[in-house]
Amino acid sequence: MACSHISSCELFVQFALNPALEIWKKAYCNGEYIACARYVTARKGQLVPLSLLPNGKKITINRSQDELATTALFNCIAKDRTRMAASLIKTVGVDINASNVEGTTALMAAVEIGSIDMVKLLLGFKPDTSKTNIHGQTAFDLALEKNDAALVKLLKRVG
Ligand code: SF4
Repeated sequence: MACSHISSCELFVQFALNPALEIWKKAYCNGEYIACARYVTARKGQLVPLSLLPNGKKITINRSQDELATTALFNCIAKDRTRMAASLIKTVGVDINASNVEGTTALMAAVEIGSIDMVKLLLGFKPDTSKTNIHGQTAFDLALEKNDAALVKLLKRVG
């Protein structure tokens, strides 16, 4: 069983973006999550710093501004925060076509959470809709797979 905090855990997004961190995801998020220091801290109702690793150690995260911005965009999408996502794209200039280690782009991530508003927002920035993830699926394919008629219709319009 996977960790129930995946959607709110800021570090989990990092695991998806950085292949070198995938080991944490396998060992904890999709494994022994009840032993994860982040999970335990969150369950106590305490703030969980991004620097706290599942094993309880702290790390210094050195990332480029681009990586930080892309991570922030994926976080916004995961939480369906359209205004914040728009602000990041407009003001910080996040690459709308950036993808994570699984080849998931921002548009695909928005389709995966089934957010019509987020998909509409991202389409307004003219993303490359022909991009595919590691499974060879475009955002349109993912909408079809979800059997989400509204998203299929929306994405069909933009090709
Ligand atoms: S890092 Fe820990 S809290 Fe975060 S998703 Fe993985 S197991 Fe859950």
